[in-house]
Amino acid sequence: MDVKELQSINLAGILKEPGEKSAEGVIKDHLGEGKNAIPIEGQADWRVTVSNYGGEFLLSGEVHGTALMECRRCLKPTPVPIHAYFQHLLHYQPGVEAVTRVEAPEEDHYLFGHPELDLSGFLTEAFALELPLTAVCDEDCAGLCPVCGADLNETDCGHAQALKAKTPFLALGELLKDL
Ligand SMILES: [Zn+2]
Ligand SMILES: [Zn+2]
Repeated sequence: MDVKELQSINLAGILKEPGEKSAEGVIKDHLGEGKNAIPIEGQADWRVTVSNYGGEFLLSGEVHGTALMECRRCLKPTPVPIHAYFQHLLHYQPGVEAVTRVEAPEEDHYLFGHPELDLSGFLTEAFALELPLTAVCDEDCAGLCPVCGADLNETDCGHAQALKAKTPFLALGELLKDL
């Protein structure tokens, strides 16, 4: 059986009266779409609860999974566990097509216009906010050779040693240029 991967929650039952609804699901392969999509290992899990407090909707949820980031030294896909929580205030406004952020002096909130609330933006944003700026596959990762691009964790092309030997002269050259 296909597991549906809808990132949404149906609020029809609590649009007009106070109440609470929950939903959960999985996201496979990546969060978000296009060039900003975040690749993940396996699947990410999410769960949300929406409460209607007299016309205002409080969305709270969490998403956890393992992001795949490039190692900053060798560029290998590197698993980074992410556990993100989020909470937002929402207002229902029929006719609004996509979930829209409204910046307000009191409190930022979101408008939604359909009982089936699209969660993809909330989930992707919360997950992205938890990503570290960089990742490293291993503290001892040797990185790539700056000359030939070889993965120095796997081979020793010999360039690194040659470079090291040259460095004192390069530094001296730079120094002389400044005089
Ligand atoms: Zn690495
Ligand atoms: Zn090399």
